[in-house]
Amino acid sequence: MSTTGKMVATALCGTEMKMLKDKNLQHQHYPIIMGHEGAGIVESVGEGVSTVKAGDKVIALFLPQCGECTSCLNSADNFCIKLKQAETHLMSDGTSRFTCKGKPVYHFGNTSTFSEYTVMDEISVAKIDAAAPLEKVFLVSCGFSTGYGGAINTAKVTPGSTCAVFGLGGVGLSVIMGCKAAGATRIIAVDINKDKFEKAKEVGATECINPQDYEKPIQEVLFDLTGDGVDFSFEVIGNPETVAAALASCRESHGVCVIIGLIIGVQLNISGHLFFSGRSLKGSVYGGWKGRDGASKLVSDYMAKKINLDALITHSLNLDKINEAVELMKTGKWQVTHTIFMSEYLGPREMVCGGGGGQGSHGWRSHIQAAEGSFRNLQKISFPYAFCFITTL
Ligand code: NAD
Ligand code: ZN
Repeated sequence: MSTTGKMVATALCGTEMKMLKDKNLQHQHYPIIMGHEGAGIVESVGEGVSTVKAGDKVIALFLPQCGECTSCLNSADNFCIKLKQAETHLMSDGTSRFTCKGKPVYHFGNTSTFSEYTVMDEISVAKIDAAAPLEKVFLVSCGFSTGYGGAINTAKVTPGSTCAVFGLGGVGLSVIMGCKAAGATRIIAVDINKDKFEKAKEVGATECINPQDYEKPIQEVLFDLTGDGVDFSFEVIGNPETVAAALASCRESHGVCVIIGLIIGVQLNISGHLFFSGRSLKGSVYGGWKGRDGASKLVSDYMAKKINLDALITHSLNLDKINEAVELMKTGKWQVTHTIFMSEYLGPREMVCGGGGGQGSHGWRSHIQAAEGSFRNLQKISFPYAFCFITTL
């Protein structure tokens, strides 16, 4: 039960940058169309799809909501079992819906948003308000929801509390927004790139510190600043060492540390002693929101002016500038989040939609063919950027 969507806006998330370094992905699932944060318009739907129709505005979801698994049926849980589908880098029926010169191209994160058109399962799209501006609300697809919900849903930040946020990318800034909305009175932003501080203050940080400015470990600096540690800390980098530091920054008696950063293939080295006094360490995916319900609700909140996404967007590029986006991200010169617009990008492109009205048992199929001239700019992307389309075909 798939849907095909025309992507309108997508972003480069810290997760893509991590995946660039993931040798397993490069070797086993390549070529691949990366991108998991985006919004678009449904172009057509397959047999059995009932919750969205052509023309609907939708948010792409790396975290599906099947509505049937134990997580989906548990109101306190959001880890839909179908998320694991993403590990296959294929659709739920085991097929790829992208081909290039006759060869299959892998999907990514149940979404593959770095494409003008993509095919997603129905459970991986959330229908949103028809009036929502896609070039803003696409941030609800990952970064904003993950950070904001990490503070509100996972940590359950309390009014009057003190928080520390490690890592000030788009996700970390959204954590700050969540802490502020929950009524935290002191929000200490931590990053090794001081260029991130101005924006952090703009969205709610009360002070900003750079660990490199201190001789002593950052957790000791935070204890010096607060007296007895912070109530809530957030690791939004994806580094095992900063997880340990964030946990150690918490109040001994009741501090809560939430890991939002992606830690891939690395063991955490944390002293058990840190837990003896009552601290806790929690994981969080998509900010604790259920995929479809959460995305629709947050877009409604944006339309009702309850949340502000605009501050998170500092660069807007066309898809053919994706190399520039990656370089900016690598050097840390970018400020927050890139919007990558699809609409003006590809020239000649042929989209073949098989099945038509009488779809077979596998439902609707779409092949984005690399017709002459299509993806030509992306073909210049060299090997380290294996996440982009079709460099070796
Ligand atoms: P980002 O790369 O934009 O931001 C990371 C920030 O951390 C940068 O500002 C960088 O300067 C800072 N940093 C790096 N090393 C540091 C250190 N040692 N001490 C202090 N600061 C340091 O990334 P992002 O897009 O904001 O994503 C952040 C993390 O969240 C990534 O690991 C990403 O994979 C993860 N993520 C998780 C989920 C989830 O559902 N749990 C969803 C999306 C993203
Ligand atoms: Zn589910």
